[in-house]
Amino acid sequence: MNAEIIAIGSELLTPFRQDTNSLYLTERLNLLGIEVIFKTIVGDNREHLTGAASLALSRAEIVIFMGGLGPTEDDLTREAVADALGLELRRDPEIVAGLERRFAARGWKNMSANNLKQADVIAGAVVLPNANGSAPGQWISGKYEGEEKIIMLLPGPPHELKALFDEECMDRLRAKLPPQFMATRVLKIAMMSESQCDARVAPIYKRYTDVQTTILAGAGEIQLHLKTRAGSLEAAQERVDRLAEEIEEELDDNVFSDNGDSLEQIVGYYLQMRNASLAVAESCTGGLLAERITSVSGSSRYFLGGAVVYSNQLKTAFADVPAELIEKHGAVSREVAAALAEGIRQRCGSTLGIGITGVAGPAGGTPEKPVGLVFIALASEKGTEVAERNFPGDRNRIRFFASQLALDLIRRKLM
Ligand code: ATP
Ligand code: MG
Repeated sequence: MNAEIIAIGSELLTPFRQDTNSLYLTERLNLLGIEVIFKTIVGDNREHLTGAASLALSRAEIVIFMGGLGPTEDDLTREAVADALGLELRRDPEIVAGLERRFAARGWKNMSANNLKQADVIAGAVVLPNANGSAPGQWISGKYEGEEKIIMLLPGPPHELKALFDEECMDRLRAKLPPQFMATRVLKIAMMSESQCDARVAPIYKRYTDVQTTILAGAGEIQLHLKTRAGSLEAAQERVDRLAEEIEEELDDNVFSDNGDSLEQIVGYYLQMRNASLAVAESCTGGLLAERITSVSGSSRYFLGGAVVYSNQLKTAFADVPAELIEKHGAVSREVAAALAEGIRQRCGSTLGIGITGVAGPAGGTPEKPVGLVFIALASEKGTEVAERNFPGDRNRIRFFASQLALDLIRRKLM
């Protein structure tokens, strides 16, 4: 089955509020094997809302409305959906009684009349109790222009929506679906471009027409999301596992995780497994690498620390980079990166040392040393290797890329 989600509220059309509820709902619907084919955001406008409702009903089997169920003038969802369906609203005395009890329980004297509209129910709808708020949800299952539809009206506040959907809607939906199970798998790939990666894996996943494959590309990391459905969980799992295996074989050590672990976690596992420790000297990343490494709980077992050596003086003072070396080659150079890695490794007595220096931009680039040029060195007892890259993007992206490559160098070294 497929679904459309309609988020309602003029605030969701401003730069200040995002529709996050639909992400939650999409995750839950996907778990049931329901695909979301459209998402719509509409302001608090009855005409626009009725139009969006009619359009959604014409193209999706399940339509979920959220928000606009409250007591205020601008809460118009009930009215608009009733209009679109050509059905009446009826005031439900039980909900009215519930609202009155709720007010009394809080010691509020008079319930203002506008609250009563929360008791208006679309003809034929099942009322879904809202444990966390005053406006109940509604569930409608029936024919619309000759086709079976499922329609839900849910409150907008995220904690109300989540609880109500899980408690009242999941089982109702499950009962409407043929029994099927979904299995997923996420492969994470380091330091490959999306096109490079896709060129190698597309011929493989194209053979698995029953598995849905999505590529998400970020700075220095690609995620391949595999998803399939089958009559049993084992059958579904078997299909994604088989595809994952073939892809891992093709991409080999470019795949760093097949179970959701982050690159910093994987680096942590390897360091522990090898009984190795790490220290870093960071210039252009300003501590980002250390931040990422220490975001993993237990990182004190392998991460000793390091220094943010932004100025030339501190590169010398904290990582023993000879001043002449900086003078001769410039702070952004292969030689200085290597000296940073070796210096910090010596200073800290770590198994591995990382040195990062580069031009993060947007200012400071020259023809010889353009914005995006980064040198990353990894020093060990066996010597020092230096990677040189020209990363694309803005300052944040270049800095993230640099931290990502540094982590990946460590991973590959220890693999
Ligand atoms: P209420 O009884 O609180 O008025 P309601 O159903 O009318 O409930 P809204 O007024 O539309 O809900 O939204 C209430 C709050 O929930 C707002 O602060 C809004 O920003 C937030 N909210 C609404 N819709 C969403 C959404 N799709 N994603 C995230 N937050 C949302
Ligand atoms: Mg509202």
